[in-house]
Amino acid sequence: MTEKRVFLIMDQQEERHDQPWSSYHIETSKRLDVIYERLQTTGLLNDPRIEHLPRREATEQEIRGVHTERYVNDVKATETMIEEQQEQFCSKYEDIFVNFATWKRAKLAAASAIDLVTSVAINKTPGIAFIRPPGHHAMPDEGCGFCIFNNVAIAAKEALRSGLAKKVMIVDYDVHAANGTQECIESMENVKLISIHRYENGTFWPNMPQTGIYHNYKNTMNLPLNTIGLNDSDYFALFTHIILPSIYDFQPDLIIISSGFDASLGDPEGYMNVTPAGFATMVRLLQNTGVPVAAILEGGYFLDALAADSEWVLRALLGEQVPPIQVEPLNPFIADTISRILARDGQKTSFFRKLQELRKLFGCKLSVEESRDYKGERTVHPPYETRGIYTPFPEEKIDGFKEQLNSILKSYESIEKNCDISQYISQDDTVEENFLGIRDGKLLIGNGKAVKRFVELLFISSLNPQHVVDNSFDDADFDLIKFGDELKDLKNIPTFQNCAIFQL
Ligand SMILES: [Zn+2]
Repeated sequence: MTEKRVFLIMDQQEERHDQPWSSYHIETSKRLDVIYERLQTTGLLNDPRIEHLPRREATEQEIRGVHTERYVNDVKATETMIEEQQEQFCSKYEDIFVNFATWKRAKLAAASAIDLVTSVAINKTPGIAFIRPPGHHAMPDEGCGFCIFNNVAIAAKEALRSGLAKKVMIVDYDVHAANGTQECIESMENVKLISIHRYENGTFWPNMPQTGIYHNYKNTMNLPLNTIGLNDSDYFALFTHIILPSIYDFQPDLIIISSGFDASLGDPEGYMNVTPAGFATMVRLLQNTGVPVAAILEGGYFLDALAADSEWVLRALLGEQVPPIQVEPLNPFIADTISRILARDGQKTSFFRKLQELRKLFGCKLSVEESRDYKGERTVHPPYETRGIYTPFPEEKIDGFKEQLNSILKSYESIEKNCDISQYISQDDTVEENFLGIRDGKLLIGNGKAVKRFVELLFISSLNPQHVVDNSFDDADFDLIKFGDELKDLKNIPTFQNCAIFQL
């Protein structure tokens, strides 16, 4: 067996992009320091399975593939400004900061994204770039939310322009809406974005109606989360019900992950409970589609979690065993989001249409009232606030999260002994075995382990939560034989008469 390889770009931060004026901020250069230290202490930094890519600065032409000339020149000018001018510059854009290093660091970040994605597309080998400033809030003509240039959109544009990719899917699990990416890719062909984010009916930043489910952007599907405290199981459900089917439908030849870790347990921005294993699982599920995966760092502000999440996502990309996650009955908020997406898009694509038929068969409610999901309000306007926006959690609270995280990480030390994760997430199956989608007008379900688990979850644990006996992933919890029989009955439904359903 050939040695598994992963491409890695780890920014060295020779000059530091940090907020120059004194005010507490969460997006600091310490974020990359903790990732670097973690990769060093775990030996991953010098791991022979990892290929480090050289760094360079993006050309202005590359950046202008997505951003306006005016905005690029505006950012360029900050390099020689004095601090007062820099702060004044920042007040024109919502929640960004710049210093003497920003122009150079932003060009390095953009080129890192391009070069990582290029290497992943050429070699069909996964990769990850730990870079800042982040990018997914940056819009064509403005910076926003700590983001200067939209690294992911620039990389997608270059991959398509160079012909290295024909179709690009961007999956953004950062806890904030990918409002910038949504805007940047709207004029592009053959690129799609799926963004999972904290929304709370538009009352959470950036409080934009277009980051909800209902909008007119042709390339974006938003999966807004209308509550906080969501966990691995909730994100897993969105992947199995919406994201994976959308990927099988779109059939991209490249997946770019906007990998923000602020949905982590203990993050001061997200208030979610995703664990390092949860992030690793999401990445592994994307890998299991057989499409090359390039992950690019976005947010993540609880430094301990940021380091641990980075390590475990890298381990997932390396093909290492991913620690198990707790899978629970479908959360009503997630069920609502899934139902709304399927009700809205259920007839648009062949895969969702099949899913809707399957759901109907299993007695699910199909129509959802299209009530307005936006109850927010945009109250900010230029000149924007540049100071005093963030306050740290109290020390005791942070200590509590650290303790929780450490006990989770401790439990990973024994995964090899007590869990055979391959039963639901496996890289050993071939791409064909893990295929689930429409080919030649037929619904094809491969017999790979990932697909099996997807189908099981789809019908047993998630859409019929009462069937779940236990929250753990033990085979004994699932009545597979009964399920198999139900699936065979699908052949009696006219739409499925021509479907090739493989033996499960
Ligand atoms: Zn974020």
